[in-house]
Amino acid sequence: MAQKPNPFTLLRTCGQARRGRLMTPHGAVETPVFMPVGTLGAVKSLDATDMHGLGAQIMLCNAYHMALRPSAPLVQQMGGLHTFMGYKGAILTDSGGFQVFSLAKSRRIDDQGVTFQSHLDGATIRLTPKRLVEVQEQLGPDVAMVIDECPPGQADRATVEAAMARTSRWAEACLDARSRSDMHWFGIVQGGVYDDLRARHADTIGAMPFDGFAIGGVSVGEKAEDIDRVVRVTAPLLPADRARYLMGVGTPEDLVRSVDAGVDMFDCIMPSRNARNGQLFTSTGRLNIKGAAHKLSDAPLDAACSCHTCTHHSRGYLRHLFVAKELTYFRLATLHNVHFYLQLMADIRRRIEQNTFNAQELLAQLSGTAA
Ligand SMILES: [Zn+2]
Repeated sequence: MAQKPNPFTLLRTCGQARRGRLMTPHGAVETPVFMPVGTLGAVKSLDATDMHGLGAQIMLCNAYHMALRPSAPLVQQMGGLHTFMGYKGAILTDSGGFQVFSLAKSRRIDDQGVTFQSHLDGATIRLTPKRLVEVQEQLGPDVAMVIDECPPGQADRATVEAAMARTSRWAEACLDARSRSDMHWFGIVQGGVYDDLRARHADTIGAMPFDGFAIGGVSVGEKAEDIDRVVRVTAPLLPADRARYLMGVGTPEDLVRSVDAGVDMFDCIMPSRNARNGQLFTSTGRLNIKGAAHKLSDAPLDAACSCHTCTHHSRGYLRHLFVAKELTYFRLATLHNVHFYLQLMADIRRRIEQNTFNAQELLAQLSGTAA
């Protein structure tokens, strides 16, 4: 397939931080951007109308999970992911490389692909680059990810090098297998915690005709300081004129540090998962709604937050719903946390535009120690 025009425009920079725009069939995505994670086609407890209300420009679904249930042909028959979910924004599908390596039972990997047993019903499934492209073209997202081999964070050099070689071959095979010209494809850089391997793989994958590039194999069991260093080493080595996506990371602080390293796109289950566990992000630090101190509080979660939850409900009410395990709690808490992440990114975009983005200043604010 002929090389498409570059869908990404770098609008301006502030230090290494970048303000950009990714054009997709479902609109422009202003970057840096956070993509709420709807693994199975929905951010848990929310729907597409909520996503639009929150101002989510793009969300993530997981091709591995959707292919196992309800299946890619079913989604295609239902009109593709956007129609199926009723979501008008852009969608990125993660290929599920990470899931194959973390969830699947008795997987066997060879140079052509992976054979594994479904974590749902034990059925044997063969996944090759060609098959993965077919599945994602049936699902029909705006951005699709290649299949990569994602070794664990503690993997030794030899294991990481073997995974890199395989990931490179699979990346080329995915490019060759494409048949739809309306979808963007992103390549994935591996290399574990080894700076020289990251640099080498960024060169290899960066030279391929992808529409964007991702840093994969991060936050898979390695130390926190390794995550930060790997992102700092890898991001500047990716093609400067294409979108850069850091997969599966992380905390609000990780996002700020990674924007500072030159990353444009993020996804993480943290805002929704932490919401369900009672941990809420606020402009003055984290808050645990379980705390007895909130029992009689008529204050909102975050006085500085304009989300539905903060403008309608008190901490005392939310604590009660949490303790009583009311489903409404999951929805209200998730709305707030996702709103917090999206607003943080909007704030970061504004700061880059005004040339005032300062990671240390934002980190101090997030930890509640700002003046
Ligand atoms: Zn709120």
